[in-house]
Amino acid sequence: MSTHGFKLYDREKRYAIEQASLAPYACLSAAAEEQRIWPEKPHPYRTAFQRDRDRIIHSRAFRRLKHKRQVFLTSTGDHYRTRLTHTMEVAQISRTIARALGLNEDLTEAIALGHDLGHTPFGHLGEYVLNDILLGKMSDHPGMPAGNLGGFKHNYQSLRIVDLLELKYPNPGLNLTHPVREGILKHTRLKRTAISWPELHSEGLHFEQDSPSTLEAQVVAIADEIAQRTHDLEDGLRAGLVSIAEVRDLELVRRAEEDGGFCVTDFENAYEYRNRLTHRLINILVGDIIATTLGSLSVQGKSTGDWCPFRKTLVAFSEGIDPLQNELNKFIYKNIIFREPVKRFDEQAREILVTLYQNYANHPEDLPQNIYAHMRDGGAQSEELIPRLICDHIAGMSDLFAIHEFEKLIDRHDIRTSVDANTLNKLKSG
Ligand code: MG
Repeated sequence: MSTHGFKLYDREKRYAIEQASLAPYACLSAAAEEQRIWPEKPHPYRTAFQRDRDRIIHSRAFRRLKHKRQVFLTSTGDHYRTRLTHTMEVAQISRTIARALGLNEDLTEAIALGHDLGHTPFGHLGEYVLNDILLGKMSDHPGMPAGNLGGFKHNYQSLRIVDLLELKYPNPGLNLTHPVREGILKHTRLKRTAISWPELHSEGLHFEQDSPSTLEAQVVAIADEIAQRTHDLEDGLRAGLVSIAEVRDLELVRRAEEDGGFCVTDFENAYEYRNRLTHRLINILVGDIIATTLGSLSVQGKSTGDWCPFRKTLVAFSEGIDPLQNELNKFIYKNIIFREPVKRFDEQAREILVTLYQNYANHPEDLPQNIYAHMRDGGAQSEELIPRLICDHIAGMSDLFAIHEFEKLIDRHDIRTSVDANTLNKLKSG
């Protein structure tokens, strides 16, 4: 169709643009069109990866990221990252790298927006608690499962959400393409031994290798690390957990100052220094990855069309930068993430999550109607799935929802708890 010389950029036109403009090692949308768990007709004017990205943005799990904590309670400042703003930063960094390398931006964006959908309430702690429950490590607590049921990891949970738990289309899940599903699963280290999960569609996930088979997915995995390193450092400085003098001992910070031509004495306040530092650190790390990856690709010596799947990780930091970003990472874990002010309410958050689990095990009728009906009508198969279904529900909660649900249930069933009202109020205002 053509009107006044303008022509619709339909799906075929988009495919032609990708074919003509992307690098030979990029993952093209056209090839992924039929790579879905459930076959479906292509969209008239969106490519397969554009469609995947849009489905993630319109999912309920995506909207809940807004109220899930990254590291800090947002009650202590509007500018601390949440899972949602973290996700958006990962998408931005991924797209910058993808565009510079001639990769498929739509694919990187879809993977980035979906990578953390499986994160639990209460940051890292929530993941540890659900993992303990589903490994049978809490079997001495009443109502807890006794055996190893496969554990819990947020990247598996992200895949479980997009494959199964979102209910919006004729089939279960979002029915994303395999390259997006694989990228979501492998954005963080994959432990193949842990793959004992029920209802996992292994097709298209390339379980024969730990690393993602597309460069677009490898980009997201490393962009996630850059976003974490830089925003956790900035948030830690803002919270006063680390001082500017301390971070200036890090070699990467010294490089950032040198690279940006600034010094701490150039600024009137810490705020301006923090901003300049974060900006420059991201720039150094992103630039390093682009240059290193191009170098690695140039020695691959493959012909056009012979690139995917990639058997090993090519998107990486250089040998010069890698130890420095590792040093920064260790500094952040030691001085920010594992510090007392961040972990202050961990014990209470743990008790909230354990109490929620025990309550749902004792009173499954308190679960949402669709989960309860699935348990009640599922027979023996459902028996084995009950702990997983309960953890699916808890993992999906935002911090705030988990606290409200806890308050409601302890009241309804007269449950004794050591979590006092004052703590709940502090947690709630996050
Ligand atoms: Mg992440």
